[in-house]
Amino acid sequence: MQKTLSKQLLEWYTKNGRDLPWRVKGGPHPDPYVILVSEIMLQQTTVKTVIPYFQRFMERFPTVQTLADAPLNEIYLYWQGLGYYSRARSLHATAQIIVRQMGGIFPQTRSEVLRLKGIGNYTAASFLALAFNKPETVVDGNVIRVICRMYRLTDPAADILPLIRQKAEALTDKNNAADYASAIMDLGALICTPQNPRCLLCPWHQSCLSTGLPDLEQIPKRAKTEKKIKRGKVFLIYNRLGQIYIRKRTEKGLLSGLYEFPWSETDMPFDTQNAADTETEVSHTFTHFRLTLRIYTLKSDDVNIGGIFVPVKNIADYPFSTLMKKIWQKAATLS
Ligand code: SF4
Repeated sequence: MQKTLSKQLLEWYTKNGRDLPWRVKGGPHPDPYVILVSEIMLQQTTVKTVIPYFQRFMERFPTVQTLADAPLNEIYLYWQGLGYYSRARSLHATAQIIVRQMGGIFPQTRSEVLRLKGIGNYTAASFLALAFNKPETVVDGNVIRVICRMYRLTDPAADILPLIRQKAEALTDKNNAADYASAIMDLGALICTPQNPRCLLCPWHQSCLSTGLPDLEQIPKRAKTEKKIKRGKVFLIYNRLGQIYIRKRTEKGLLSGLYEFPWSETDMPFDTQNAADTETEVSHTFTHFRLTLRIYTLKSDDVNIGGIFVPVKNIADYPFSTLMKKIWQKAATLS
């Protein structure tokens, strides 16, 4: 039965699987570096968003050696807008470990892969399956949805992850792990979608326990969590030469290593009495909260909070987060 299911899925994949810039069909990818970069980029980010970033990144850093040799600041520039910047730092560190400690040879065992930076169990499994056809089972959001519906697992997915994993493992075609991993992820992305699943086109249509049932879209069940709302002020500070003040965030925590305009949820450590309120706000949603910043402008040469004044025309040379870019774009419409 399991064998038939995986065979049906692989046949469907051969004809209908997505063509993606980091994918080959019919076995593992010949270049593990391609899989490493794409898997790190795909952490918490959709395929559609990742594609243009991946293409630009691979043009500039086509090999693990070029990535290892590049300055981190330049990597941030190619990552800006993609979010979760600690991934860029981890990818850079991983490239350096592979080149400098492993002689440029990519690891092929789970314990070695887990010793690289920014790689947890999920990424290790997909890397080993997609790059080396290792018999690993990949369990991401798409796979969880497919498995829960297929076996009508109606408890909240977070409560039954070991059972989901066990079912997913039993289905995995261990001899074709690379194609199987891509196939089940594509099934979730293209057919067994969160809304309007297309059961009639599904290769598992005959065996699935949820086909055609009215509560299909409610599976898997998830616990609702409200995002926290945070508010603060951001200051665009210009000196008498018309330069603007930016500072680099620390190498740890939210948006680490990127540049920003000074902002805070509380008071700023400089005199803001003469700051002008633009009455304009910019919001951005992070994983666990939504942050809204109100924009103020200030003329001052006397700010000393670890940043620098730079010519406005050079702003693009510095990597900024999406939130800071939104603020800069908004500010341009105010002047
Ligand atoms: S038959 Fe429908 S619910 Fe079942 S796995 Fe296929 S698309 Fe999902």
